[in-house]
Amino acid sequence: MNKVGLFRSIHLKIVLIYVLLILVAMQIIGVYFVRELEDQLMNNFKTSMNERVDLLALNIEEELTRERDEEDPPPEQDIKRLLSDSDSEAVDITEVRVIDNRNRIVGISDASGQGLVGQRTTDQQVQRVLNTGQEEDRIFLDRQTGKRIWMLYKPIIANQEVLGVIHLIAKIETVYEQLGEINNIMASGTAIALGITAILGVVLAQTITRPISDMRKQALAMAKGNFSRKVKVYGDDEIGQLAVTFNNLTKKLQEAQATTEGERRKLSSVLSYMTDGVIATDRKGRVILINEPAAKLLGVSRKNVLAKPIIELLNLEETTNFEDLLKEQDSVIMDFSKEHGKTYILRANFSIIQKETGFVNGLITVLHDITEQEKIDMERREFVANVSHELRTPLTTMRSYLEALAEGAWKDEAIAPNFLNVTQTETERMIRLVNDLLQLSRLDSQDYQLTKGLYDITHLFNRVVDRFELSKEQNVEFTRQIPEQPLFVDIDEDKLTQVLDNIISNALKYSPEGGHVTFTIEEVPEMIQISVQDEGVGVPQENLDKIFERFYRVDKARSRKLGGTGLGLAIAKEVVLAHGGDIWATSEEGKGTKVMFTLPYDRPEEDEWS
Ligand code: ATP
Ligand code: MG
Repeated sequence: MNKVGLFRSIHLKIVLIYVLLILVAMQIIGVYFVRELEDQLMNNFKTSMNERVDLLALNIEEELTRERDEEDPPPEQDIKRLLSDSDSEAVDITEVRVIDNRNRIVGISDASGQGLVGQRTTDQQVQRVLNTGQEEDRIFLDRQTGKRIWMLYKPIIANQEVLGVIHLIAKIETVYEQLGEINNIMASGTAIALGITAILGVVLAQTITRPISDMRKQALAMAKGNFSRKVKVYGDDEIGQLAVTFNNLTKKLQEAQATTEGERRKLSSVLSYMTDGVIATDRKGRVILINEPAAKLLGVSRKNVLAKPIIELLNLEETTNFEDLLKEQDSVIMDFSKEHGKTYILRANFSIIQKETGFVNGLITVLHDITEQEKIDMERREFVANVSHELRTPLTTMRSYLEALAEGAWKDEAIAPNFLNVTQTETERMIRLVNDLLQLSRLDSQDYQLTKGLYDITHLFNRVVDRFELSKEQNVEFTRQIPEQPLFVDIDEDKLTQVLDNIISNALKYSPEGGHVTFTIEEVPEMIQISVQDEGVGVPQENLDKIFERFYRVDKARSRKLGGTGLGLAIAKEVVLAHGGDIWATSEEGKGTKVMFTLPYDRPEEDEWS
């Protein structure tokens, strides 16, 4: 409905109304005017004729009633004279006949009709007027000329006796011609009035329709979202006020639109920047909105899941249906581990969108990735179990030895020192374990600070290796690939010594008789990489990452026998990470293991020293 047709436009309607009003008014005026005028003209005509005929009648009456002598001419002669006298004056009179009371024509004004004088007339109307003495007149159409004729029959009365009749024939057509002319003037006047009114109507209607059509255009533009236009205000009348109100309305609408748009943008940016996934459904449970994080968490594309049932999307078909979800609105934990190949757990919280009437509009689902939290919870449980286990083993051993001693073994000099020795070893092992745990918990705490300083790493490494070379009991050969020149690194010396101790002690622990251990320091971009390689039993490929976890030991029995708690590499990892480096291992089972770690290193520019 963008275009209003000319024939349906308000403009044309107004003009038509104008023209019709004028037409009706002119018609009514015309009808009254012409009728009145016709009456008037007719009356004038008849009155003037009557006056004439009255005079004639008086004269004829005189002639007819006069006493005549023998030498007097017959009355026909006098009547003829009277008739020709009056005839010469009136143009409209065609003929005047005088008939006496015996139906005889005694006079005729027409010169060519003189032959009829003396004959009897057959005119019925003459007979009637003679009988009644009442004057009569009528209008009839002359068939030959096509013109209207007026006939007047006037009785000549003297002393209440009808002496005769004057029969007048007059051309009344002139009156009608006059009327016709006036009609023509009226018609052309009406036409001119209509023309002027139409033009005026077009112009005047514009003053009404232009603001209205402006508003219409504006409303159409508004419907398309364009609020920049304004309606021109032409005056202070109702339409002008309407235009002002319309402009105000436009402003209000624009503001409202802007607010809604702003809210929508806010909502959409909140939805897209929040880390939680959000899914909204309609009341049948079909997805109508899903944000990017939700799509990512579920591993789907946003476009493909629209209109898909949420139960299907969340893989809950087997456990629940949409109606139950609406009723319970609980949270659901979903384990996607199977599909993704690694631990992957989501928690979905549901809440209904409801109207005040209780009508359910849809469901909002918020997805949280709780994998990390679950992992931490699991680790904590495992850790407690591990610690209890690690402490129980030496305690059980000690209890049995102490029980044996208490039951009398203390008297036996051969075994008592041996037993005491075992309890001592176990106690030391426990102390070491507790110390390690303490240290780990300190490293874990947020506000732990390293006491760093610039140390020459080659010197530190050599010193530790020297110590092991002196104290080693096995036959293991050491190879050093350590640069001659000092390399200064910003480190916590104590902690790093501990890391090196652990890595080297591991290498020695798992090295076979006559094996080689290689110590290397090399520079990699922006880092120093330190590695210790042995030719020992190695670590299975799938466990390479796990050896840095707390309490993890590849071969529990054997490493416990070697005095290990499984915390050494875990501590090493924490320390290296706290320095901003990284630690990892490569290994080939039966052939050896290489444990490496890096430390951030700023290579000094040559000219800094020169
Ligand atoms: P701790 O160091 O606390 O006395 P540990 O040596 O057993 O005990 P980690 O140093 O953390 O513990 O080592 C974890 C596990 O990694 C070891 O139990 C062992 O199974 C494996 N491992 C570490 N280094 C080597 C290596 N060089 N060769 C083979 N296995 C190793
Ligand atoms: Mg160790």
